[in-house]
Amino acid sequence: MKIVAVETIRVEEFPEFTAVRVHTDEGVTGLGETCFGPEAVEAYLHESVAGRIIGKDPLAIERHAHDLPGFYVTHGGTGVSTRAHSAIDIALWDLLGKVSGQPLYQLLGGAYRESAPIYNTCGGYRYGRKEAKFRGTSRPDDVADEPEEAAPGPYEDLVAFQTHADELALSLLSEGITGMKIWPFDEAARASEGKEISRADLKRALEPFEKIRSAVGDRMEIMVELHGLWDVVPAIQICRALEDFRPYWVEDPIELDSDDALRRLKASTNVQFALGETLGSLPYYKRLFDTNCADIVMFDFGWGSGISEGRKVAALAQAYGLPIAPHDCVGPVALCVGAHFSVATPNVLIQETVRAYYTDWYRKVLTELPTIANGRIAPSSKPGIGVELLPGLESRPDAHVRISR
Ligand SMILES: [Mg+2]
Repeated sequence: MKIVAVETIRVEEFPEFTAVRVHTDEGVTGLGETCFGPEAVEAYLHESVAGRIIGKDPLAIERHAHDLPGFYVTHGGTGVSTRAHSAIDIALWDLLGKVSGQPLYQLLGGAYRESAPIYNTCGGYRYGRKEAKFRGTSRPDDVADEPEEAAPGPYEDLVAFQTHADELALSLLSEGITGMKIWPFDEAARASEGKEISRADLKRALEPFEKIRSAVGDRMEIMVELHGLWDVVPAIQICRALEDFRPYWVEDPIELDSDDALRRLKASTNVQFALGETLGSLPYYKRLFDTNCADIVMFDFGWGSGISEGRKVAALAQAYGLPIAPHDCVGPVALCVGAHFSVATPNVLIQETVRAYYTDWYRKVLTELPTIANGRIAPSSKPGIGVELLPGLESRPDAHVRISR
């Protein structure tokens, strides 16, 4: 079997989404995906990747995982090249599943568990569907400050966590979801560029935690996303202030640029840190684990060099005694991959999900999604990832399709 074409599909309504299809001479295709900068990823895939894999065996996955990043400036990080390589790697695993007639979780070693626990990241409807005017923002959550439009459904959780986190916690519990991720410190971070947080801003940002604890006590786990926006001193102040609320984890309190800064922060607080989704490849995870500052390991299949690298990161984490929490928030194929990975991988702790996405825009892109019910997720049992792009997606007037043969 040989690869004969690489196809990219992006849709303006979902402006950070890039789907990749790898076509073979036997008519089987593999589906992959990445997120952010889709025009740049598309250009890189056709300019620099297609010519290196067309004519090659798609099932030599490890060969491609080795060769694609091994090209000087395309190595490391979560830049355009790594994201493009990630999408290809996901598509090749999907192809392997289809050719062998086995679901992805089976290829990864089989069902260690039947389903995996989830938590809800309290995003709203608009991030995955935002208009081009938002595309210059560095953080998807910046849209929290935009004036409200009519929500297309009941899960406008981005607004809810900022205004009535208590009702939101009750709503999630009623669906069997016992973990929620919120980011009420981002507004203050943008105001000071992360240099300081005032007593008033700290107090305001703690209000959702007070509401959640007084409404549901300890029945809800709270994940706190800090998006790497803070300098070390305000990050220490925030983490210490959060200790009384017993957060499940604090995620990316600072950017992972300085091991010494991270160690200083870790030594100053007793909250648990979830780190890693921005790192991109195995050696950077090794370096992070060696700091002894990561308590939970985040990994994104569409940014972090795909499924091949995800397996290695999970194995390395296991050797360090660390659990993995696969990332979502980025796109439907990545969530589907996460569902397979989470049931197959022993040290997966919990899978991220966003109910405003998997009930809405994810369904406008894919034929089906993992089963999500009672706070758990289970993957498709069809061959490969088990999903396809929704028929007609590529012929929408706002679709951009490009193919290299
Ligand atoms: Mg995150």
